[in-house]
Amino acid sequence: MKVVAYSIKEFEKEFLARANQKKHDITLISNPLSAETASYAEGKDAVVVFTNDDVSAYVINRLADLGVKYIATRSVGTDHIDKEAAERKNIKLANVPEYSPQAIAEHTVAMALALNRHLLESNEHCHRFDFRLNGLMGFNLAGKTVGIIGFGHIGQAVASIFSGFGCRVIVYDPFSTVNQPGVEPAAFDELLATSDIISLHAPLCVENFHLINEDTLRLMKNGVMLLNTSRGGLIDTEAVLQALESGKIGYLGIDVYEKEKGLFFEQHQHDTDKDPLLEKLMTYKNVLVTPHQAFLTNEALQQIANQTIKNLDNWQADKRRVDAFQQHPGMINQRAPAL
Ligand code: NAD
Repeated sequence: MKVVAYSIKEFEKEFLARANQKKHDITLISNPLSAETASYAEGKDAVVVFTNDDVSAYVINRLADLGVKYIATRSVGTDHIDKEAAERKNIKLANVPEYSPQAIAEHTVAMALALNRHLLESNEHCHRFDFRLNGLMGFNLAGKTVGIIGFGHIGQAVASIFSGFGCRVIVYDPFSTVNQPGVEPAAFDELLATSDIISLHAPLCVENFHLINEDTLRLMKNGVMLLNTSRGGLIDTEAVLQALESGKIGYLGIDVYEKEKGLFFEQHQHDTDKDPLLEKLMTYKNVLVTPHQAFLTNEALQQIANQTIKNLDNWQADKRRVDAFQQHPGMINQRAPAL
């Protein structure tokens, strides 16, 4: 199959090469997919994309005109793809439905520990030979209540780790049954009102856009720690900024940001006009921002590459398959609600 893969980082190449074994003719390019770069897909059967590529209706129509029949994303999340536009053009979609949930779960817990124990400030002080303990007081995780919103692959892995620390773990997920030892289901409002740490592990869709907003923040404990390694759009960042200012939020750890497209994964140090909201957030010592890197482990990258190649293999094996979703778990149900 002839393929062009967009937004390819140097570190991904060896994983893709190992997975592909020269089966597919893949052109790797570092540029993101956009209206301008769609022309690289001319003569290709498939394009491979990532979370911050532009897979809007406009770009999909352009890809269809160029003869593209398949789009595979190297991510769990599919909120960046206009699925209805793809269906209209009869373009098949696939994602990586599950890969090393531990990679994201461990990053989430690392953020909680770094925030709670002020590790970044402490390290900075020590590097200046300032070994005083002022401002470095943390709290024990043992005995604290951790509220997990979204109990899928990653939410379950996060629950296991926090349980291991001796936390009380409560979970809100309207679509999943909670049957993990030591984990209790909770109503949404109850979780917000009783959790010391709230961690988001739900996908972004129309229904939960800005799930964390002025109203839901009001229900939380004063000084709560809020963690988001899922999708930026789950949080109303303006409202969160106000909650940081008022002290409602005591700690914020985000690996994703609602305006990260065109910003994360790139060097913007010398921009004169930096994103003002993100700049303001980062003036707070109790805010930890990482650039959508929770997936970035050796194990996760190999699994992403393996599943992406498997998706291409499946398409190659039967290009006429109609109900791809039922036959291969990696296939996205294109009839899911549009985002
Ligand atoms: P998953 O599909 O296995 O689980 C998601 C769970 O959320 C499901 O159980 C679903 O029932 C639940 N859910 C849906 N809507 C909900 C709502 N409104 N409230 C509560 N629960 C809800 O997905 P996953 O693999 O666990 O991924 C979770 C999130 O992590 C996704 O947003 C994904 O895009 C993101 N992610 C981020 C990174 C990263 O590098 N930061 C990497 C992988 C995945």
